[in-house]
Amino acid sequence: MNMKLAVIPGDGIGPEVIRETLKVLDEVGKQYGHTFEYTKVLAGGCAIDVHGQCLPQETIDICKASDAVLLGAVGGWKWDNLPGNERPEMALLGLRKELGLFANLRPALLFEVLADACPLKAEIVEGGLDLVVVRELTGGIYFGEKGLKDTDLGPAAYDVEQYAEEEVRRIAEVAFDMAMKRSKKVASVDKANVLESSRLWRRIVAEVGERYPEVELNNLYIDNAAMQMVRNPKQFDVIVTSNIFGDILSDEASMITGSIGMLPSASLAKGNFGMYEPVHGSAPDIAGADMANPMATILSAAMMLRYTFGLGKEADAIEAAVKKVLADGHRTPDIAEEGETAIGTAKTGDLIAAAIKMA
Ligand code: NAD
Repeated sequence: MNMKLAVIPGDGIGPEVIRETLKVLDEVGKQYGHTFEYTKVLAGGCAIDVHGQCLPQETIDICKASDAVLLGAVGGWKWDNLPGNERPEMALLGLRKELGLFANLRPALLFEVLADACPLKAEIVEGGLDLVVVRELTGGIYFGEKGLKDTDLGPAAYDVEQYAEEEVRRIAEVAFDMAMKRSKKVASVDKANVLESSRLWRRIVAEVGERYPEVELNNLYIDNAAMQMVRNPKQFDVIVTSNIFGDILSDEASMITGSIGMLPSASLAKGNFGMYEPVHGSAPDIAGADMANPMATILSAAMMLRYTFGLGKEADAIEAAVKKVLADGHRTPDIAEEGETAIGTAKTGDLIAAAIKMA
């Protein structure tokens, strides 16, 4: 297969973790007979420096003409004093909108060898943890009508939570399709005891669920879901929820896995198009120091192979290579225990690529 990728290294540690990810993809290409065509484009702070804007039209055009987008991270101290709407991070919102990325997938996978990094009691996560939060990304309160008005109690501000049936239907389909490939369980999270928009959410999710009779659907209120996530996270497999609830719940789920340097994500559009990026930011405090953990980005590339290109075997090979490197005791500083010798970003990429060679 020939795959056309738009690559956005971005700022801070972005270029370092992307460099290692391309190293790993090239090895996958060699071993499995695929070619990757990379077009590197600018977004974020580096684009502001060159073009005076964080998301140049050329970047959008190249992303749209590609099969998938791979992104490092954007932002950094240098641009921190710019007004909100001119900051590098606005490139992310622009990309989501321009590319129609309505579904955000955040797996929370606790690698057994890193179980000590989990802040929960060992017995709660015994045997590992593997769940995925499917968050609606382009609707709800973050995009609803907002404004200021006068009320009896004085000046007030409002943000409207609104969902169209079709917005719920398409995100529910993503969740149920994913459940079919995993353990056939979906938990839909809402606040249907209070919110009208949640009652619509629950009705449409149930309708979609009827088309997937093999999948068990469970409805939970957000307050209960947040509590269950720390009480017994292993009960979850696929969680589907709205933009704002997903924002909070996916961070909570991530925290359970311990290190931000290990967490991949995918944002999907209709069809197979997607943008793949680590959950972490540009980590300006360690940029250029060969200290960044590239595993989150490498695991994001595995998601890309699985979800955009349907290459499950190749995705499995990347995940197995990451696990092997961890099992062999190699750690970047963020996941190294006290007294353990850590390895750098480039060495980590080399080891993962080499592990794929041997697979
Ligand atoms: P951050 O994720 O960049 O860093 C938080 C902490 O985690 C830092 O101590 C950092 O060194 C560490 N860290 C992050 N990724 C790591 C990795 N791969 N390996 C080892 N350690 C890692 O979050 P922040 O400090 O809040 O934000 C820094 C910049 O990144 C800001 O400008 C922010 O706006 C931006 N940001 C970008 C994205 C994105 O591009 N998707 C997401 C979040 C934050």
